Amino acid sequence: MFIETPLLESRALSQRLNKSVWLKMEAMQPTGSFKARGIGHACTVYKERGARRFVSSSGGNAGLAVAYAGRKLGVPVLVVVPETTSERAKHLIAREDAEVVVHGKSWQEANEFALASRTSADAFLHPFDDPLIWEGHATMIDEVVRAGCTPDALVLSVGGGGLLCGAIEGLRRNGLASVPVVAVETLGADSYAQSLAAGARIELPAITSIATSLGARSVCEEALALARQRPVSSVVVTDQQAVAGCLELLDEHRIVVEPACGASVAALDSDDAALRDARNILLIVCGGVGANVDQLTRWQAGWQAEAGAAIQSR
Ligand SMILES: *Cc1c(COP(=O)(O)O)cnc(C)c1O
Repeated sequence: MFIETPLLESRALSQRLNKSVWLKMEAMQPTGSFKARGIGHACTVYKERGARRFVSSSGGNAGLAVAYAGRKLGVPVLVVVPETTSERAKHLIAREDAEVVVHGKSWQEANEFALASRTSADAFLHPFDDPLIWEGHATMIDEVVRAGCTPDALVLSVGGGGLLCGAIEGLRRNGLASVPVVAVETLGADSYAQSLAAGARIELPAITSIATSLGARSVCEEALALARQRPVSSVVVTDQQAVAGCLELLDEHRIVVEPACGASVAALDSDDAALRDARNILLIVCGGVGANVDQLTRWQAGWQAEAGAAIQSR
């Protein structure tokens, strides 16, 4: 369902920050993101429990992970996506032999349709709010510890909080419960930061960041509960900083990731106290198939053009 990914020390990031920065290369998963772990594990368990079909409403990395797990397990998959989903995303999911149905103008409509089309023989795979998913994600920390790395800070991106809950479970079961976690989001997809600030779960009215994989309007309750029990801090970066983080990974490590992942690289430059005090930083390179080199450079060129125009009009 998923593979053991490389763990490497980034010489470039380590030197720039004068610390050791370790990269857990989840972008190397067969589906291009860490989602393969939690969703692969959940699908395996649901099959054992008798599920005859997997249903998902994600046109992103979660839907792709469900499609991949279904093909590997020999279980049919239905992915319902809204009309806004790109041809590329639909193609990637269909290539894993999943049935792709387009329904509705928004994700909410697609999700309602997916839930309504479910029969009692189907398992519905939530993209982040399921303890089985957290259990599967936790394996990435097992691997890091087995490789002999004990971080004193963990940096990861937060969408709905599944990766955060899973990584914290991994730290806990490896005796690292007190290692601080730095939760990174982009401005416009910062539902966790705003919930932490409010002390309760908030719902964003809309997602305005290009980091669509971080675009959960609300995080799961567990992500908030964990922040009350252990050290978790929050960092919010701009879309521009996130794309710069992607381009740094591209230049230094020859790897393409989504802004959702570049955000974590960008966060290394924040003044977060846990990061400042850490000597060994573990960064989850969460990956994502929703961006390519062309798209990344177009985003950056767009901002550079805007900045140029602003200077000219002064
Ligand atoms: C899903 C995803 C995230 C966010 O994960 P959550 O579990 O929703 O917090 C971040 N980056 C990428 C590439 C993803 O696919």
